[in-house]
Amino acid sequence: MSELAVKEWLKQAVKQDGIDKYLIDGKDFIDELKITETLKSNAKPDKKQARDILQKSLRIERLEPAETAALLHVTDPELWEEMYATGLEVKRKVYDNRIVFFAPLYCSNLCVNNCAYCGFRLENQGENRRILSIDEVKHEAEAVISEGHKRMIVVYGEHVSSDADYMAETIKAIYTVKKSARHGEGSIRRVNINAAPMSIADLKKLGDVGIGTYQVFHETYHKPTYASVHPEDTIKGNFRWRLYALHRAMEAGIDDLAIGALFGLYDWRFEIMGLLYHAIDMERQFGIGPHTISFPRMMPAAGSYLSTHSKYLVNDSDFKKLVTVLRLSVPYTGLIITARESAQLRREIIQVGCTQTDASTKIGIGGYTEALKALNGFKRDDQDKSKQQFLLGDTRSLDEVIRELAEMGMITSFCTAGYRCGRTGDKIMGLLQSCTEAKFCKLNAVLTFREYLDDYASPETKVVGEKLIQKEIEEIRNIPFFKKGNLLRNFEDYYHQTVQGKRDVYI
Ligand code: SAM
Ligand code: SF4
Repeated sequence: MSELAVKEWLKQAVKQDGIDKYLIDGKDFIDELKITETLKSNAKPDKKQARDILQKSLRIERLEPAETAALLHVTDPELWEEMYATGLEVKRKVYDNRIVFFAPLYCSNLCVNNCAYCGFRLENQGENRRILSIDEVKHEAEAVISEGHKRMIVVYGEHVSSDADYMAETIKAIYTVKKSARHGEGSIRRVNINAAPMSIADLKKLGDVGIGTYQVFHETYHKPTYASVHPEDTIKGNFRWRLYALHRAMEAGIDDLAIGALFGLYDWRFEIMGLLYHAIDMERQFGIGPHTISFPRMMPAAGSYLSTHSKYLVNDSDFKKLVTVLRLSVPYTGLIITARESAQLRREIIQVGCTQTDASTKIGIGGYTEALKALNGFKRDDQDKSKQQFLLGDTRSLDEVIRELAEMGMITSFCTAGYRCGRTGDKIMGLLQSCTEAKFCKLNAVLTFREYLDDYASPETKVVGEKLIQKEIEEIRNIPFFKKGNLLRNFEDYYHQTVQGKRDVYI
């Protein structure tokens, strides 16, 4: 790609009308003074006030900023224990004991931006730049499918060579890949993406090829910090272009949206408030909040001084608190904990109400295919710093993590039925808020877990998994909701078909 082509593309990337239409009286929804004031005026909540707020979360009602600010300032360790337990209870009400797995796939590390915390940034000379060809994307997908994954999140740097057309091609390619399993063939049933903000026209191209969730992290909601880590002369330097990325997606017809903040750039309490205001603005302008919220912690990245020296790096104890407050503040939303974190911390954080995680993760460009080669005798570094964005804390396989969760009583779900039955956007929100989605998903979780145990699980995981699946089936048989109509009968029939080797049957 010539330098001129890159420059031309850069010039047209930001469309001002894709920002202005969402402003109210010329203002966006991040009012720093108001956030700081709300945090200050709720800095000393008493126990009764905090417990009343917990009751509201248990009713699956989204909290108001003042309530979230109060929970962020709880100091009593006993009250925190109550909050952790309530977080899990809220999660169970909305999502039951289910955990959904996905695999990230990094397609390109070419990037025109210069984010101070990221190994992919333009000025990082040590980075080995690469963009996967469509054939290479398919090979990566094959390797991911071989582990048993059904859901992928594809990640791209921001560059003309990985523009919306390239993204659409990669999504289409991944959906075509089939890989034989013990019974029949495995495939990726849902492709989500994490990519830079785009115009409505570009987002429509992604909608046309069946994108699942569109995820954009705002990194930091604190404007001075945002400006200091994203140079002004880069696309990412435009705070509002990014802030309204998901609003534009909604207008483009993509209603499954995911927000997040990169913790470690600024004060974590402020960022939680920013995420809450983001959810509130989406609800206000479109009637639907985010489907998931992510809270990546900044990890050491090659050539990034900030990634290891920021004065706002979040310790494990505060991390657990911030996830808990998010759980309580936006009870209907999914929460994603990733393999950035160590195995031990991930175990703990899942217990305060997370709903999704990844495993067998490789974040180097071409990382899955290379890992397969290594298995076949070609030597390589497990985590190659010059090809990946940051270092992972947990490199365990999908099988190991599924086994651990099953031992903890949590069932892995590979269900993607909701999306394919049109249970997205406002429909899924209604179901989540009324705690009905958890029930459908319980059935589909069992069906997809059965598939996993028969197609991919190791003998050890099978032993633990069988016990769990039998317990789940017993529960299903005893829940009155399932006895209404044909639900239970259909489920038993689908389960039987799955045992017989039929794949991808869902309710
Ligand atoms: N280039 C696109 C963008 O910036 O939106 C998407 C891909 S970017 C690789 C995905 C996310 O990685 C970023 O939004 C950021 O939150 C996260 N990230 C960047 N550097 C990181 C680091 N050092 N540790 C953890 N996460 C990081
Ligand atoms: Fe590029 Fe995204 Fe990394 Fe920023 S975070 S340098 S935009 S890949």
